[in-house]
Amino acid sequence: MTNISNDPRSKIKVVTMNGNLMPLNEAKVSITAPGLSYAALVFEGIRAYWNEKDKELFVFRLDDHLKRFANSMKILKFEKTPSLDLIKKQIIENILANDYKEDIYIRLQGYIDDWGEMAIRSPVSTSIVSYPRPRSIDFNKGKNFTVSSWQRLDDNASPPRVKASANYLNSRLASIQARESGYDGAILLTSNGKVSEGPGGCIFLIREGVIITPSVSSGILESITRDSVLKIAKEKKIRVESRDVDRTELYIADEIFYCGTGQEIMPILSVDKILAGEGKVGNVTALFQKKYTEIVRGKTKNFNFWITPIYFK
Ligand code: PMP
Repeated sequence: MTNISNDPRSKIKVVTMNGNLMPLNEAKVSITAPGLSYAALVFEGIRAYWNEKDKELFVFRLDDHLKRFANSMKILKFEKTPSLDLIKKQIIENILANDYKEDIYIRLQGYIDDWGEMAIRSPVSTSIVSYPRPRSIDFNKGKNFTVSSWQRLDDNASPPRVKASANYLNSRLASIQARESGYDGAILLTSNGKVSEGPGGCIFLIREGVIITPSVSSGILESITRDSVLKIAKEKKIRVESRDVDRTELYIADEIFYCGTGQEIMPILSVDKILAGEGKVGNVTALFQKKYTEIVRGKTKNFNFWITPIYFK
């Protein structure tokens, strides 16, 4: 049972369904909706960060999340979808109505509603749920990962580029296996045996000062955090390689980190019990963590185009 006082849902005043604000317990989906029965559902996980000094909440890369949301619906041939401008307005409205003054996470979903067979394209319903979500304590501590025996999904089977809930069965299997084996998380390999990504984030390795990440053709979600890391590296003139990554490179890397909206930039201290460098949070990882933290909280001018202020009038 969930302890209610620790349950972030206790802080939710309202959620949004098809643009209408309502209490969470009134937001219901039909058991006949293809979004449920055929997993015809796409989503985005977005963070917004509280800046205490400015008394402002900044949504991180909102337009990029909306663009990816549209691409997911396009690939799955959802029809008569709401405009991105409208969804953006509804997200802002949702946050304002909840009046959050802390770090939050926003879950946006688009799904085939009502009833019908698996290939039906409409009606599309949307939902927005926002709730408090502080940074994970593992951001400072790091995690220990294993290479999964589950294979990452392929683009021509169940494309990971689409942020569809159906793809998370693959992530679920890998996560459960990793935890049952005593690890914190998993790294999946592609059908060609190359490094793909983790169940909910992308992988970066640092070798001899070069940062290396599997390319967008490695069965990964086109991660917004991954893109942010690449752009920060460019600004800092750090050499980057986006390419095929071998499993054994994980075992000889100086540093490894896991990245995504939820994890932000999470150090990976070991893979299959082989330490990355000295098995501590490395200098390059720490540098990206620091820069990322400054950017998301609106503390650097040159990346301010990535953040959307909520309370600014
Ligand atoms: N890969 C997977 C499978 C994910 O679920 C996520 C989290 N959304 C990511 C990568 C990271 O993507 P983003 O940085 O856009 O959150």
